[in-house]
Amino acid sequence: MAAILNPRGLADRAKALARDVGFDLVGIARADAPPELSFFAEWISRGHAGQMAYLTSQVERRSDLRTAFPWARSVVSVALQYDTPHAYSTQAPPERGWIARYAWGDDYHDVLKARLDTLVERLQVEAGPFRARSYVDTGPIVERAYAAAAGIGAWGKNTCLLHPEHGSWFFLGEAVTDLDLVPDAPLPDLCGSCTACLEACPTGALPAPYVLDATRCISYLTIEVKGALPEERRQGLGRHVFGCDICQDVCPWNRKRKHEGEARFGPRPGLAAPDLTELAGLDETAFRERFRRSPVKRAKRRGLLRNVAVALGNSGDASKRTVLERLADDADPVVGEHARWALKQLG
Ligand code: SF4
Ligand code: SF4
Repeated sequence: MAAILNPRGLADRAKALARDVGFDLVGIARADAPPELSFFAEWISRGHAGQMAYLTSQVERRSDLRTAFPWARSVVSVALQYDTPHAYSTQAPPERGWIARYAWGDDYHDVLKARLDTLVERLQVEAGPFRARSYVDTGPIVERAYAAAAGIGAWGKNTCLLHPEHGSWFFLGEAVTDLDLVPDAPLPDLCGSCTACLEACPTGALPAPYVLDATRCISYLTIEVKGALPEERRQGLGRHVFGCDICQDVCPWNRKRKHEGEARFGPRPGLAAPDLTELAGLDETAFRERFRRSPVKRAKRRGLLRNVAVALGNSGDASKRTVLERLADDADPVVGEHARWALKQLG
């Protein structure tokens, strides 16, 4: 026990336990605000966060973790791979839609949170009591900034984190602790002169390297926007119905990846390049059944069918008019309005 009570021994033990409970990557950052966080408030002030109120309403809290947790000393940052061996979005058949691969399987929040809690409990058994809070995608923390500081991945020009072996297909989580742990070093830049993601983004959501304009991003539009989509953005969605993988699909670090994600993150039946007509037929009950414990439930039926209507309108397939005419009469006015827009696209 005494051997692990120094900051180096504790850090090594925390990382060994993280791997033991099933994480693919782990690193440690100081709880002091990483340098990238100084850009966060500026990014928000430029309007790049759009309607993501959970970001814009907590700029100060999110700009420095210690505002929320004055006791915080270290962040144990973890990552779990989710790519499974299936086609790229750019290879999807033309009559089908696209759901981002992170949302194909089980809800990652539950999986990562349970493992983080186990990690903390096991470290407490070995090191004695300490304060800790675990987060996955929630809480007052800009998790990518801490993960970058912890050496989990280097910032890519598409604003994802890149790892030389794991690419960018991984979920992030973190345990904020009052332990004094020796931090890891950030990874060096991995992009070099590559600009593949900037060139591939279909909507201009990457106006410059390392800058994401969320208001143009298909992921933001299909998941975060809750009501009507801006008309001028609808054609740009193509056939995406939940998220977008393009700027990660084209990344050479993902094309050469060596590791595969757990089967639980592989596609549930019909979710890899889903049949748009089938999704259009989901009523509230069927939607809940189909997306129970799935990240897609975040969009709710309204959001998903709104996106399906837009995707059908962008498909250029006039045989889908009947499907859209049915959606145009949907009890949900948002779905109905988007279906009428889609019918106009099909002429
Ligand atoms: S997720 Fe899609 S829309 Fe968003 S930046 Fe990447 S390629 Fe562009
Ligand atoms: S596609 Fe190229 S520029 Fe974009 S994140 Fe990957 S390596 Fe970096």
